[in-house]
Amino acid sequence: MNVTRSSMPPFEEYCREIQELWDSRWLTNHGSKHQQFQADLSAYLGHDNVSLFVNGHLALETALEALDLPAGGQVITTPFTFASTTHAIVRKGLEPVFCDIEESFYTMDPARLEGLITPKTVAIMPVHVYGNLCQVEAIEAIAKRHNLKVIYDAAHAFGVRYQGQSVAAFGDIAMFSFHATKVFHSIEGGCLCYQDSTLTERLQQLRNFGIYAHGDCLYPGGNSKMNEFQAAMGICNLRYLDGEIQKRGAAVARYRQRLGGVEGIRLCPVQEGVTPNYSYFPVVFEGYRLNRDQVFQRLKEQDICARKYFHPLTSNMVCYQNLPSACQAELPVAKRIVEQILTLPLFADLTLEDVDRICDIILK
Ligand SMILES: *Cc1c(COP(=O)(O)O)cnc(C)c1O
Repeated sequence: MNVTRSSMPPFEEYCREIQELWDSRWLTNHGSKHQQFQADLSAYLGHDNVSLFVNGHLALETALEALDLPAGGQVITTPFTFASTTHAIVRKGLEPVFCDIEESFYTMDPARLEGLITPKTVAIMPVHVYGNLCQVEAIEAIAKRHNLKVIYDAAHAFGVRYQGQSVAAFGDIAMFSFHATKVFHSIEGGCLCYQDSTLTERLQQLRNFGIYAHGDCLYPGGNSKMNEFQAAMGICNLRYLDGEIQKRGAAVARYRQRLGGVEGIRLCPVQEGVTPNYSYFPVVFEGYRLNRDQVFQRLKEQDICARKYFHPLTSNMVCYQNLPSACQAELPVAKRIVEQILTLPLFADLTLEDVDRICDIILK
């Protein structure tokens, strides 16, 4: 059993969706499926400005490009994330500055954020890690005070709502990933949701070589367009998403019932005002009779693959060992959590019997 398992629409439904493509021979470059998927997402998220990408990572890179941040500027971010977040910053010629995370939800700690701002700071890139909502109000207040852009890596948070509103509404730009391992997917894919509708054209150009008319280019853009087959998968999967999230919720409820309150096992508290998407189920082993690595091993012996998300911290990755020391603020919480946390299997088809088997191994 793997940590995740992709949700799939009925096979015939996907075939029906792509049938037209054999007739039209329009396979990519903003065809009818792309247009429909964008409209469907816009309706689902309640957000007007949605731009589709071939994957979430290139969407994130393109977001940084579109905001025209001065080269060499610093972006304050979290080290407790998938490599993509930090890589996007560095690949766009910016410098990541790592901010520690808070104890309960493992998102950027706003109490430590302001002290990291320097004259070189140009943006903040927090992550709604595991689908846990960042402290969006506190981050927004700090960004306003210092006139900084906020780009949320919301790769884990598709479907998450705060006070009824999609997380797409927070920050200048939010990125969702539609990778096959995510709660909602289009095989590979991603999108940007942004507040400033004047970015629409620029994003369209940047994802298609910078072309604006008759082959002439305004920018040296890349190629990060979503193709029609991806869009068709997204259209189908979106029809089932609410049901899939509900099924994940049932598995999470069982995990919480079995593991909640056990001494030495810490779960994320339920977030006030947040409608979750149950994308991951992280568990912290702190003072339990087995440590994280031992639990990982016991599960593995039974062919259950939990994951040490997100180990190592990106700030400790080999490729970032030569970053200036100013980038490496003190990270006591992240450094502790990264050694204690394990993400247990969670997907829509996970049965309650499976959850019980996993919990039995952990508890016995
Ligand atoms: C998956 C993921 C990404 C990258 O998305 P892709 O669609 O795989 O390119 C970025 N950030 C985080 C936190 C992710 O988990």
